[in-house]
Amino acid sequence: MEKNLTISQIKNAANEAYQEVKNLTGGKNANYIPYLANVDSNLFGLSITLLDGTCINLGDTEFKFGIESVSKVPTAILAMIQHTPEGVLEKIGADATGLPFNSIFALLLENDHPSTPLVNAGAISACSMIAPQGDSEDKWKAITGNITALCASAPVLIDELYESETATNFNNHSIAWLLKNYDRIYDDVDMSLDLYTRQCSLGITSSQLAIMGATIANGGFNPVSKLQVFDKEIAPKITSMIASVGFYQHTGDWLFTSGIPAKTGVGGGVMGVMPGLFGIAAFAPPLDDAGNSVKAQAVIKSFMNKLDLGIFKGDKIKIVAD
Ligand code: GLN
Repeated sequence: MEKNLTISQIKNAANEAYQEVKNLTGGKNANYIPYLANVDSNLFGLSITLLDGTCINLGDTEFKFGIESVSKVPTAILAMIQHTPEGVLEKIGADATGLPFNSIFALLLENDHPSTPLVNAGAISACSMIAPQGDSEDKWKAITGNITALCASAPVLIDELYESETATNFNNHSIAWLLKNYDRIYDDVDMSLDLYTRQCSLGITSSQLAIMGATIANGGFNPVSKLQVFDKEIAPKITSMIASVGFYQHTGDWLFTSGIPAKTGVGGGVMGVMPGLFGIAAFAPPLDDAGNSVKAQAVIKSFMNKLDLGIFKGDKIKIVAD
């Protein structure tokens, strides 16, 4: 079916979804990283960026929260820019694990293969792939420069979060060394883990993440900065990875009920990509048992359902001015 959607309809649906979900309770802040346990649980933001550069922001959309696992998306893009999508497929994979983000078992089951750059194992492996090899500071500049280009503004390292994660990331140490055992770390092990930990500790806003989502939805062309950030061919590759594992063991349920590929982080952020239409991001710290924000999921689902949108519906949708 061909459908026109006006910008006002989109704004109204966003507003209604936001009001509807605002007082939803349930979930708990991540507590295995001490800093995250203390973030105000009532913060709540919803941001949408359309491909003409229109930005819709409701609530706490300028609050800088820990990007956490949403950072796996930009670094996977960077690895594909530097090594081609096929290079990443070969060295890491593009498969769902169906298991928690920090699963060691997933790595053992695959017997050498991190499956996807969007779980901890594959993300540490992706950090090890980033050029220039052997140079932590320049690798860091490449990682943050890429996030800046995708968001049209820079993320800021939250020092306290970085210290908090570094002091408690024992499970990730085990994953990193297991990757080394399987020859899936392509640089120094400690450096690769440190880069992963640091990228997870970047502060980001929901308005920045919606712009990143829109850049992916727009074939790599950032609708706000008006710059081409990555090759068009990478967009469907990263979106397929997001679709297959963005919510870890709950990914199928998420896609079934929301109809939009999205990636979560334990900081409470969720970034969604609606190819050809928009990027959407929501933020609220309390999480469900898989580490996915309860309110962010609810508000994105509500928005999608109100507009009867979904990647599997097969509708040809055009966003038009009012
Ligand atoms: N830094 C966190 C970790 O490695 C990220 C997890 C997440 O957001 N799902 O455990």
